[in-house]
Amino acid sequence: MKIAAIRSYHLRCSLQKPFGFSQWTYDQRNVLVIEVITDTGLSGWGECYGPADVTQAAVEHFYAPRIIGMHALSSEVIWQHMWRSSLDFARGGIMMGAMSGLDMALWDLKGKALNLSVSELMGGRQRQQIDCYATGMYFQDMNEQQLLSTLVAEAQAYACEGFKAMKIKIGKNLNFDKQLIKAMREALPNTTLMADSNHAYDLPEAISIGRVLDECQYHWFEEPLSPEHLRQFHSLHNKLDLAIATGECEQTRFGFDKLLTSGGVNIIQPDLAYCGGPSEALKIRAIASANGVNCIPHVWGTQLNLAAAVHFLATAYVEPGRAESQSLLLEYDRTENPLRDELYSTSIDIKHGVATVPDAAGLGVQIDPHTLEQFTIKRSETL
Ligand code: MG
Repeated sequence: MKIAAIRSYHLRCSLQKPFGFSQWTYDQRNVLVIEVITDTGLSGWGECYGPADVTQAAVEHFYAPRIIGMHALSSEVIWQHMWRSSLDFARGGIMMGAMSGLDMALWDLKGKALNLSVSELMGGRQRQQIDCYATGMYFQDMNEQQLLSTLVAEAQAYACEGFKAMKIKIGKNLNFDKQLIKAMREALPNTTLMADSNHAYDLPEAISIGRVLDECQYHWFEEPLSPEHLRQFHSLHNKLDLAIATGECEQTRFGFDKLLTSGGVNIIQPDLAYCGGPSEALKIRAIASANGVNCIPHVWGTQLNLAAAVHFLATAYVEPGRAESQSLLLEYDRTENPLRDELYSTSIDIKHGVATVPDAAGLGVQIDPHTLEQFTIKRSETL
């Protein structure tokens, strides 16, 4: 079974209501979806996290021509071939994002070829269901008092849907962030809460915010500091009780090894559509395990990346094990995204904040071809 063609689809849609976080505001959603087709006619699908137009060029002009004709089930051989072909100038970044989507498509393909789900291919399931946390509470263009009550109401709606855990955005300004952290805890005394600053603080600011998170018994503090300032994580961790989580900007086992070696990080968050794909995520998890750290993927994008994370978490072993294990939470982005909610004829089943691991072969989600066409703004094909 050989790779006969690789197609990529840049999908885009506008949002009804723009939303923001500490670094940027979104008024549209974009994604690059990859289809790897074999000479038997079987297809596997993956997606890339990152700027879709640029990643598409990396797939179309660089990696696809280099892997056409390779044995489609040899995902490790293909990964290594791609890695070595761009190693001298692309040890990470967008090129690794492109490799990630291709690798994800090869896992989907292998599952379909062998009639096994991706979690079965990864070694088998430790669990059939995964607790989710709702990601939302992004900033909107309104005055701060209005915004506070809007965000609290949004969180309460997720609690009513059955979510027992959720993550808020902080990193607007210190005063507002502290008010928001407290207001959320007051409104939701029994919910597992996390806060994500998307690297918005310097060290003294992160300590000051972290102390409020500690007071309000938050579960983790995500990207408190810049991913460029790894040494600061250790100093922050020494001042706080709660777990420090980071890694959505990091890639490959080599990157995560450096991150974990510098210390101060308790949870790592590789994105399977960016870190090097499911193949590399398994290696990253092994490094995390050796450091006594849990690996909880960052999930942004559409159902393919969500499905990859579901299978990955289904196979996860929790560090450390005990009679009643802590749950490794699946990130479920609740912000507006038609590419996640309208593109697929089969999606991940999530009810009352709990995801069920799909039994179907491969990733277990299905793109509707008609909707794919509607959202596609640029298509590429390499033969
Ligand atoms: Mg984040």
